[in-house]
Amino acid sequence: MAIVSRNEQQLAAESYIMNVFDMVQKRNAHQPEFLQAVKELFNTIQPVFVQHPEYIKYGVLERITEPDRIISFRVSWVDDQNRVQVNRGYRVQFNDTIGPYKGGIRFHPTVNESIIKFLGFEQIFKNALTGLPIGGGKGGADFDPKGKSDREIMHFCQAYMTELSNYIGPDVDVPAGDIGVGAREIGYMFGQYKRLKSYQAGVLTGKGVGYGGSLGRTEATGYGVIYFVNEMLKEKGLSLEGSTVVVSGSGNVATYAMQKAMQLGAKVVACSDSNGYIYDPDGIKLETVKEIKEGVRGRIKEYVDKHPNAEYYEGCTGIWSIPCDIALPCATQNELDVESATLLIQNGVKAVAEGANMPCSLEAVDLFIENGILFGPGKAANAGGVAVSALEMSQNSMRLSWTFEEVDSKLQDIMKNIYRKATTCADKYGYSGNLVAGANISGFLTVAEAMMAHGVY
Ligand code: NAP
Repeated sequence: MAIVSRNEQQLAAESYIMNVFDMVQKRNAHQPEFLQAVKELFNTIQPVFVQHPEYIKYGVLERITEPDRIISFRVSWVDDQNRVQVNRGYRVQFNDTIGPYKGGIRFHPTVNESIIKFLGFEQIFKNALTGLPIGGGKGGADFDPKGKSDREIMHFCQAYMTELSNYIGPDVDVPAGDIGVGAREIGYMFGQYKRLKSYQAGVLTGKGVGYGGSLGRTEATGYGVIYFVNEMLKEKGLSLEGSTVVVSGSGNVATYAMQKAMQLGAKVVACSDSNGYIYDPDGIKLETVKEIKEGVRGRIKEYVDKHPNAEYYEGCTGIWSIPCDIALPCATQNELDVESATLLIQNGVKAVAEGANMPCSLEAVDLFIENGILFGPGKAANAGGVAVSALEMSQNSMRLSWTFEEVDSKLQDIMKNIYRKATTCADKYGYSGNLVAGANISGFLTVAEAMMAHGVY
């Protein structure tokens, strides 16, 4: 048997990762978000291939970066003026090695194949981190829900589900919500699925509690982010009590991150939407935000009409110039760049956690880590939503409903466990304190081991 030195193994691992990245880049040249997500993973997993050279032989990286399948379809519907509208719908079924495909549906005009693939790719490792048996997928459409009537939203959701229903099922692929898809949209899609295929509670998650939804699902992602931040802070002898928090976005994730942060004694001073941000030095009044965003589906600037002490600023990135202890980007991808990261660090930020998926650019993440800022990557910090979705699937299978307290307690355990797994892996693979690397490696190992067990296909 040839004796291979550790150095040779390191070189072999490095060149394998570089070669696969070149191949992925060539194959997906026009998909910058997808390439960014792949790069973020590849930057951290070299030590895994030193310990597991067999993964190279079995082409684990080549296989894991190519989705099992991409479904793209026309969604035709009729608007309130009786005009025919056509959108493009997607479902990327990325990897079902450890369970049925699981991941949200996004309705936003920026949706394209690159965005859905980056989200689906991240979902593989996030889902593995939860410790629950769910694979990675994502879907969406380039449909803009803004300014649409309730009837138009319903017709669009029905048209989207008419096609999607051919590819999903409780043991195959279980979509949920994401940007632009909340309880209302899930309700319309569930109704359409039922009409087409029969009642199957477990085909979608994020359902209304009255027809198979789980208590605590609405709050899960935002609460989970704060439970994760709590673990990061505790390790350094810090706490949320008395801290100042800035949150971007004012949708599902942002709202419940703000709520839990406030419950734990933090003062949230700013939040935003895609037009601008509000700064309330007295602390954001969450009831007003909810009234505007969940009630009348208005714009965040309306907040200052009710609270004259607060200020409204046009544009999104300015929110990161507000001094805070904890920054939580909870809106969308690449919303926090290196300039914003520099400002946050100059202003004394202690912790940053990604409520959104890939909200920080690669350079911003590197800067936080280099400066010793506690940094919770999205794969770990926002995994609470999909974790409670998996709990919703369990309740649907058992035909049972757990109480809010039961679900919340399981969520807290899952988030603590994710934090522990990420720190343990970071330590073991030479990245102590780097939760990006720890989360990537932990999620990756779970999926890679299962892929090896299943053989090449
Ligand atoms: P949401 O309820 O639709 O809210 C999205 C928020 O982000 C809104 O305030 C929206 O403002 C803002 N936003 C959207 N696009 C933007 C842009 N291009 N620039 C600035 N702001 C923008 O969606 P959500 O469910 O909270 O999702 C937010 C993020 O969390 C996404 O990255 C999503 O993938 C991630 N995430 C969600 C879940 C979940 O369970 N929902 C789980 C894990 C991760 P407008 O109202 O002006 O559009």
